[in-house]
Amino acid sequence: TPSIVWFRQDLRLADQPALAAAAHDGPVVGVYVLDDDAPGAWKIGGAQRWWLHHSLTALAADLKKHGVPLILRRGDAVAEIGKLAKEVGAETVHAVHHYEPWWKVAEDALGKALTLKLHGGMLLDDPDSIRTGSGGRYRMFTAFWKALRERMPPPEPIAAPRNLSGPSGKIASDDLADWKLLPTTPDWSPGFADWKPGEAGAHAALKAFVPKVGAYDTARNLPSEEGTSRLSPHLHHGEVSPAAVWHAVAKGKGDTEPYLREVGWRDFTSNVIDILPAYADANGRNAYDAMPWRTGKEADADFKAWTEGRTGYPLVDAGMRQLWTHGWMHNRVRMVAASFMIKHLLLDWRRGEAWYWDCLIDADYGNNSVNWQWVAGTGIDSNPFGRIMAPLTQSPKFDAADYIRTWVPELADLSDGAIHDPEEAGCRPADYPEKIIGHREARERALQAVKKVTARD
Ligand code: FAD
Repeated sequence: TPSIVWFRQDLRLADQPALAAAAHDGPVVGVYVLDDDAPGAWKIGGAQRWWLHHSLTALAADLKKHGVPLILRRGDAVAEIGKLAKEVGAETVHAVHHYEPWWKVAEDALGKALTLKLHGGMLLDDPDSIRTGSGGRYRMFTAFWKALRERMPPPEPIAAPRNLSGPSGKIASDDLADWKLLPTTPDWSPGFADWKPGEAGAHAALKAFVPKVGAYDTARNLPSEEGTSRLSPHLHHGEVSPAAVWHAVAKGKGDTEPYLREVGWRDFTSNVIDILPAYADANGRNAYDAMPWRTGKEADADFKAWTEGRTGYPLVDAGMRQLWTHGWMHNRVRMVAASFMIKHLLLDWRRGEAWYWDCLIDADYGNNSVNWQWVAGTGIDSNPFGRIMAPLTQSPKFDAADYIRTWVPELADLSDGAIHDPEEAGCRPADYPEKIIGHREARERALQAVKKVTARD
């Protein structure tokens, strides 16, 4: 009898332990179930649906070469996989373990209905096995990383199984086109063409980055340069395993530690959502429940201006437009733009989390929530709220002039000296907005507001 491989955010053939184990047992049926209900507000966002469409297309083609079908079903994963198992006469389901709360619920339920064999492969190591001296879970990245680093390197990645085969006979599957994952907004997708979703694209991006890893520590802070790996959408969809990334990068020249540490952040965020499953919705520090976030019409208008890249702060606007056009934003600018929304506009971090969720091709429950709470100061490990980033200072400090020219064409003709703060330089073009709020005024307002929290913290 065949066994089923349940694909989720592990859309690859190489170093895919669930697929390897199933191949060992006999014929394999792959399945992907699109469930837009179980994740609630965290159903797959707009930009990511585009990625998923292409990644599933690539995975189906790669599996087909080995005679393995990728069956597409829509609805409740447990019910759909139960039905499929009956149809094909399978008893065993192999899957890579995931940490999002809705996946954990589904894994528990499926494990009761069928024989579910869960495998690692999503992270460098299982966070549940990384324990403090007294046996507890880590809540701070630095200590978590120290403990994880000692357990590294991860096992060498394994190649795609050679002994793959599929069952005989036809199995019903949805047609991917009917899922309508591709965007219909006419002006939405031009910047998306640069991305290459799928396992081959992931390995190409990794190969291109390895020679750059030694320069990463400095280059990663410069939005005008391509100093980072841009592997995040590939890692989120599991098109390459973190172990494969680790071993490829560790062979690079120069200091590889700063990069490996960032990949370690990814493990840490899964550790956080594993111990605090509601982290994308609940403040890590309860005292922040008292924070007087702005609400109402004016606040909504400010939020809209932020999403559209019309705040009058060039670095923030450049980032928000890169996000919309490209589905991705440079990490430093993600921090600056998030901080601006939370502190300068005094808006609840959850609003920004939801916007990034819908716009990012790498939107990830753990990575997004942990980083938003880190910037907001509301998290279990975070940057204090009172440390307010100054976008106008960050912009020249990290040499963002060319980045701004790329994403804010109204400012393209301004000099390096003027482009970071055209209003102050007296050369703001008429088609570029005035600052939505002055930096000093915003800072004062934010520090005043947070007093409500610190009084009880
Ligand atoms: P690189 O610098 O090349 O890093 C390599 C890999 O390490 C990344 O692909 C990613 O998997 C991991 N990584 C790097 N930085 C972080 C980090 N701070 N936290 C967790 N993992 C990290 N990343 C996401 O993958 N999904 C998100 O939804 C997401 N939301 C974010 C929201 C905010 C407010 C901020 C400040 C950061 C967010 N990040 C998120 C983290 C980070 O910005 C991206 O992972 C990174 O910019 C992706 O580009 P890269 O692959 O070139 O990164």
